[in-house]
Amino acid sequence: MTELRTPAERPVVVTGASSGIGEAAARALAALGHPVVLGARRVEVCERIAGEINAAGHRAHVVPLDLAEDASVVAFAKAAEAAAGPIEVLVSNAGLVQPSEVLTAERDDFERHLAVNALGVRTLVQAIAPGMVERRRGDLVFVTSEVLRAPRPGIAAYVTSKFAVEGMIATLAMELEGTGVRVSTVRPGATFTEMGWDWDPAVTGAVYRDWQRRGLQLHDSLMAPSDVAAAITAAVGAPAGVVFRGIEVEPLAPIVEKEDGR
Ligand code: NDP
Repeated sequence: MTELRTPAERPVVVTGASSGIGEAAARALAALGHPVVLGARRVEVCERIAGEINAAGHRAHVVPLDLAEDASVVAFAKAAEAAAGPIEVLVSNAGLVQPSEVLTAERDDFERHLAVNALGVRTLVQAIAPGMVERRRGDLVFVTSEVLRAPRPGIAAYVTSKFAVEGMIATLAMELEGTGVRVSTVRPGATFTEMGWDWDPAVTGAVYRDWQRRGLQLHDSLMAPSDVAAAITAAVGAPAGVVFRGIEVEPLAPIVEKEDGR
């Protein structure tokens, strides 16, 4: 049996909603009429964003979330449901990236990335997905990365954590087969957000040049967070009985005039 009943208003949880792609996804889903719960550590930033959403006539709630702490994740899921109702949509977007190399990184560098980008996601899914299974519908949308298609050096712990979480997502999708709960993955390419701005500029430059040398950075175009949010809302809005399993979103290369006039 395919999914039959999808309410017009679907309580949504967005992790990493204090900036970048998560903020844009929260705004876009709220604008579609869904009550949205914004989760992140910077509660005051989420409050400002939620205030703007509410002032525009839509509905947003804020609940503190630290994905590195299981107790915080469990409390977040409970408070989100109390605020917005049974969760219909989880946008698992929050993420952490710091420079690191396998040869020199501390164990802690890997553990921090795995804790936020993979293990915290597991705890959140365990807290939210069972209710969806019971109701026989729901959307789990995971924001991973283009590094799954093209891994790159200089961010080894990040790449490791994103492969870990995609392994988990692939397994989860099979576990949820036949429950009515949909699992989608959105893999963004380069997007202009807060990500990477706290790096030492010299390290950023070196990593970037290395990517260029390896042909991993063919042009400098960046997407806006709202571009990636469009893919997230597409996954959430997929027709009943259909799942948009994986969406790769990349900035289009700038148009160039070829010398031979093509
Ligand atoms: P931002 O740095 O702008 O946003 C990251 C978000 O994650 C923030 O809201 C931050 O909130 C939240 N976050 C970080 N650590 C934690 C934590 N411990 N607990 C809860 N929330 C946390 O980055 P983007 O918007 O770019 O990143 C969103 C997703 O997109 C990530 O998964 C990233 O890997 C992915 N992505 C981004 C790309 C890009 O080019 N920007 C490319 C490929 C993938 P706070 O600090 O308030 O907790």
